[in-house]
Amino acid sequence: MTLAAHSSPFAIPAPRALSDSELARLIDAIGDVPFSTDRARVKKKSLDFYWYSPVLKPRMADLRGDIVVTPRDETDVLRVVAACSELQVPITVRGAGTGNYGQAVPLAGGVVLDMIEMDKVLWLKPGLVRVQAGKLMLKLDREIRSSGWEQRMFPSTKRTATIGGFVAGGSGGVGSVTYGVLGDRGNINAARVVTCEKSPRVLELRGEDTRAVNHAYGTTGIITELEMPLAPAWPWRDVVVSFNGFAKAAEFAQQLALSDAIVKKLITPIAWPVPSFLPRLNERLPDGRDIVICMIAAPSMQGFTDLVSQHGGEIVHDVDAMAVEDDPSSVLPLYEYTWNHTTLHAMKVDKSFTYLQSLFPAGNSLEMVQHMIDTFGDEVPMHLEMIRYAGQTITCGLQLVRFTTEERLDEIIAYHEAHGVAIANPHVWTLEDGSPDKTTPPDQNRFKHEADPDGLLNPGKMRGFTPAAA
Ligand code: FAD
Repeated sequence: MTLAAHSSPFAIPAPRALSDSELARLIDAIGDVPFSTDRARVKKKSLDFYWYSPVLKPRMADLRGDIVVTPRDETDVLRVVAACSELQVPITVRGAGTGNYGQAVPLAGGVVLDMIEMDKVLWLKPGLVRVQAGKLMLKLDREIRSSGWEQRMFPSTKRTATIGGFVAGGSGGVGSVTYGVLGDRGNINAARVVTCEKSPRVLELRGEDTRAVNHAYGTTGIITELEMPLAPAWPWRDVVVSFNGFAKAAEFAQQLALSDAIVKKLITPIAWPVPSFLPRLNERLPDGRDIVICMIAAPSMQGFTDLVSQHGGEIVHDVDAMAVEDDPSSVLPLYEYTWNHTTLHAMKVDKSFTYLQSLFPAGNSLEMVQHMIDTFGDEVPMHLEMIRYAGQTITCGLQLVRFTTEERLDEIIAYHEAHGVAIANPHVWTLEDGSPDKTTPPDQNRFKHEADPDGLLNPGKMRGFTPAAA
């Protein structure tokens, strides 16, 4: 194995706190827009789940904004942006702060723009919703479900995350096995965006143009509204299937993902001992067995159980998913054991765990999964998510890693990359370093010059951007 250079050679620049007089001018300029400079509140609203990464944890723990501002509507956003542009104060937009790589942690101080009050559903049509960016995703699903529709996909943080934070910071999640990732054409219809200029503009980005703000960490504009295509609302079953051997579990997962006639929302193979880390669910799981966590539409259970028998699996948990979401007291909704929640549960059992985000090569994904299990063993316990990506069914890994040193972590990442397993590195803070191909999409970089010419939005997160004035 070769030693890779450190994942991110870029140091976080020391933040500059606003002086008392700068802060006073800012507060004066934002008028009656609600704000807080209470230290505990500013600290809480400045941090996210950056501590998932042992690399980011020591580097980000002390970073803070200077003030939290909570716009009530788009007029408030425009007022804050105009003031910040005039006074050259950085702005870090915040949804619920569940991002993992310090996406919402301000590297340069300034305003934390808390979107949580902008949470209205503006309209709902068959298969399409228009919603303000601060809407919590759980509440959105609850409000639209009675009309027969639901969100196509959500992160496993559905119960806490905002739709704006998901579009600006997330990539995909529960539902991606059918609908692909957020960035796939057709998953975001439109985004209404406020630019960061002395006279801020409000732009309606439609279709392809929304790529400029999707997974851009809020560096290219402030999303105030989103128009999202929906999926038919199914009565979901939360189902766990156990297998004697991870290869069998992964093979079943792949065949289920390819079974177009079985309606599903989630397929998550997890290797033993990770199932033993999943609180409350672990009491229902057989010792030593590998599992596949699934969400299956109730009318598809016949086809599903046939496939389970064919692959020698055993259904060990089968409950009404919507009832559990409404009352998670005895067991959590299964999606809260998947995606990045798997890592969270493991970290609660053993603090040395961290994780990777990877895409296994389409042609030989299961062979490569087995190769990584054989190579790293218990140092990198396997957790997979099946998704659709670029028109194919893809095996995506959120493997756990028993962290020892940054050098060893880099070595593990380099080994995967050398074997064609693309890594979206969750231990770095710039868009470029975190993307599998280490670049920012050109449309995002170009749009940033238009929408944030002074580089005030979440500074330090888009490495490839240099403000015109510089
Ligand atoms: P925040 O963390 O507040 O913000 C995320 C980024 O978006 C920040 O850069 C912020 O500046 C920017 N932003 C927020 N709102 C706006 C706005 N209105 N306009 C412009 N920029 C904005 N991610 C996934 O993709 N899939 C998963 O399944 C998943 N599971 C997770 C599980 C756990 C336990 C954790 C801790 C994280 C997980 N994540 C996942 C990451 C994160 O939860 C999601 O990306 C989530 O959608 C972020 O939403 P948020 O409201 O918390 O955004």
